[in-house]
Amino acid sequence: MSSAYDDQNIFAKILRGEIPCNKVYEDEFVLAFHDIQPQSKVHVLVIPKGAYISFDDFSQEASDAELAGFFRAAGKIARDLGIAGEGYRALANHGVNANQEVPHFHLHLFGGQPLGRMIKVPG
Ligand code: 5GP
Repeated sequence: MSSAYDDQNIFAKILRGEIPCNKVYEDEFVLAFHDIQPQSKVHVLVIPKGAYISFDDFSQEASDAELAGFFRAAGKIARDLGIAGEGYRALANHGVNANQEVPHFHLHLFGGQPLGRMIKVPG
């Protein structure tokens, strides 16, 4: 856990049950729920239960069990959502250049439709 983690971020509140979410999956390591402003037909956020700010933080600080639990769950969630067959995009924004809005690590799962090219870089 990073000392700079802000436990008032919106996903920390969701994890504590202070704010509702439209849950799709939960286990010991992971919570997954629908994005409040979906950017594709299926848009689910997968978050670790541990207090990690971003992918960078999670990849450095999480235990092997948390890392394995998270990524095993993320793949299963995509399959259970029915988006694995036709394909989907998994994306994590880290930091300012990526416009990360919520400082609790989350993996976006986009799918259910063709998603176009990978990324648009302004300018
Ligand atoms: P980021 O830009 O940090 O990678 O993405 C944050 C995502 O969280 C956005 O897609 C945004 O729509 C979603 N989001 C922000 N607040 C809430 C919320 O209260 N509930 C849910 N389900 N999603 C949220």
